[in-house]
Amino acid sequence: MSVMFVTHLKCSKCGRVYKLEEKPVTCVNKDLGRLDVYYDYEAIASSVSREELAKRPFYMWRYKEFLPVPSEEYIVTLGEGGTPLLKAKRLGERLGLKNLYLKDETRNPTGSFKDRAMSVSVSMAKYFGFKRAVIASSGNAAASLAAYGAKAGIEVYAFVPDFAGFGKIAQLLYYGAKVFKVKWTEAEDPTVKMMRVLSERYGFYPSPSFGVFNPYQIEGPKTISMEIVEQLGWRLPDQVFVPTGAASLLTGVFNGFRDWNQVGWITGYPRLVAVQPEGNYPFVRAWMERADPNKIRPWEKPPETIATGLEDTFPWDGDAGLRALYKTNGYGVVVKDDEIVEAMKLLASLEGVFAEPSGAAGLAGLIKAIEDRQVDKDETVVVLVTGHGLKDPDIVKKTAGDVPLINPAEEEFFAAARKYYGSEF
Ligand SMILES: *Cc1c(COP(=O)(O)O)cnc(C)c1O
Ligand SMILES: [Zn+2]
Repeated sequence: MSVMFVTHLKCSKCGRVYKLEEKPVTCVNKDLGRLDVYYDYEAIASSVSREELAKRPFYMWRYKEFLPVPSEEYIVTLGEGGTPLLKAKRLGERLGLKNLYLKDETRNPTGSFKDRAMSVSVSMAKYFGFKRAVIASSGNAAASLAAYGAKAGIEVYAFVPDFAGFGKIAQLLYYGAKVFKVKWTEAEDPTVKMMRVLSERYGFYPSPSFGVFNPYQIEGPKTISMEIVEQLGWRLPDQVFVPTGAASLLTGVFNGFRDWNQVGWITGYPRLVAVQPEGNYPFVRAWMERADPNKIRPWEKPPETIATGLEDTFPWDGDAGLRALYKTNGYGVVVKDDEIVEAMKLLASLEGVFAEPSGAAGLAGLIKAIEDRQVDKDETVVVLVTGHGLKDPDIVKKTAGDVPLINPAEEEFFAAARKYYGSEF
């Protein structure tokens, strides 16, 4: 690939325009605008077709024309994307839905969809020539950056909140990241503060999973929507359930459908549904208030939820995310932690998909939406399952339940099976 399809980047706050050759990452006006990436869709449409796509390997980079990396030599990949779209028959029957699908993002290299984002981000870091990257994250994005950093030979510094689970931190340490827990302060997210210090004063490449500080990573999750459309045989689903923290994923999912509308490969959008936990829902609250996308209020308290991937007290990409909800006639849903655990159990026991709490929040949201009569039984519904159950061993241990201890004797097996598991023989 030698053609470049990115025409320019443009700050979402001040409108300043950048060329890719300027190596822009954040706006020089320091206005916390996101440098949205613009493409030449006509050029893309004339250089690749749906039929040509079908011949390529099924992973994220089959959509390279829609990604900002200017040449294949810079691509840093661990084989991300190309995840299965599983028809959930048993779960669908349980919920009364005929066409329920799970987009199983737990299959990505480090166990979450963040790999799509970080593969793009680190590829751009390689193109720009950065040697050090920095991130603020509660876990998955940092793990992902650490893995791709390892692959590319880029040093990774990660700031995590002091309440981050050790399960997630351990993964980062194995990938060789330098990890720092930062004490919580009321005023602003202290991990973001430290990330900004290193990027703004010391020239580290900022690579968190929010577009305001890195505009390239948000392009990766677009490919989830592209895969879904292909996997449904070039049909659109009716609704897509998206667990939401910073709303970067939600924005990416919208942008994937947008791009394919732009090249004329599809027409229209599914309803996008943002799901947040009861202990931290600044984004869904903004939707409930029909807020101006540029005036979203941060959550006032420290987040309280087992969904550690959804703890962003301010949805950094909430402006674009909220516009995506308005544009697609989408909506927001709030779920309780015990409903998330219930969703984890349903996913694993009926469909064989083991998700972490954040990863199962989309399903919890769907169950809520069905109760609220937002979903028709004939609709094609896709639930994004965003992160693997083994990501968060602390929480899994607490919620999995107990196991009986027996002597190696038949009668004890039968008695325990009846008592603990309700088995009938
Ligand atoms: C990051 C994350 C999300 C939410 O993505 P945002 O872009 O922050 O909204 C959902 N699920 C998992 C497993 C995550 O790691
Ligand atoms: Zn700006």
